[in-house]
This record gives sequence, C-alpha cells and structure tokens, in this order.
Amino acid sequence: MADKVAPYYDEEKVVVAYQIFCPGCGRTHVMHFRPYGKPGAQWVFNGSLDFPTFTPSINNRSGPYPPGDEREGEFDVCHSFVENGLIRFLGDCTHALANKVVELPDFPDKLKPKLE
Ligand SMILES: [Zn+2]
Repeated sequence: MADKVAPYYDEEKVVVAYQIFCPGCGRTHVMHFRPYGKPGAQWVFNGSLDFPTFTPSINNRSGPYPPGDEREGEFDVCHSFVENGLIRFLGDCTHALANKVVELPDFPDKLKPKLE
C-alpha cells in the first residue's frame, strides 16, 4: 500500500509537517504538527501513513479572486476532517466534494519532496 501522507521539510531538512493530496482541490494541503515553534495552525497527526488522522479539522481558504474575475472577491474554501484514511468534506467547501466522504488518495510520487 502506498502512503497517503508525505513528509514536508523545512529549509534545514527537518520534518516539520505532513502533507496530503486533496481530491477536492486537486492539490496538496500541508499540516504542521505539534510542537512546532512557529506561529500558525498546528495539528496532531496519529503517525499512520496508511490510515492517517489529523486533528483538528483542516480549513483551507484561498483568495479572494482579483477584480475583473467572474468570482471577484470570493474565496475558495476547503474544510475537512482527515480520519483513518478518509477525508470528510464539510458543507462550507466551495468544490464539488462538499458534504462527501472519500478515501484519501495515495500521495502522488511526483509531488513527494526530494532531499539532495
Ligand atoms: Zn482541499
């Protein structure tokens, strides 16, 4: 079984976070874990690469869309719980998987970080 979670390294090649490939957004989300001595959101990870759980929820906002865009001023929202290898999307997601529970996909090889 391939891993659903990949490590995320800081500039000193220390693992400071884990990342998943979000099937709702079609891109990665990065979760820094506790304890991490920098400001920002932090998660508890159960350590399982096959059946990962992150707590609390993952709430990813991007935007707003720039002036002139047809979605000017709007944000993309992806709000989910990753639990035992499943990703449960909440109703405030702006993508097609809102209110759905799906299996977390294997983390794509081509996106795995490479240490030199
Ligand atoms: Zn997402």
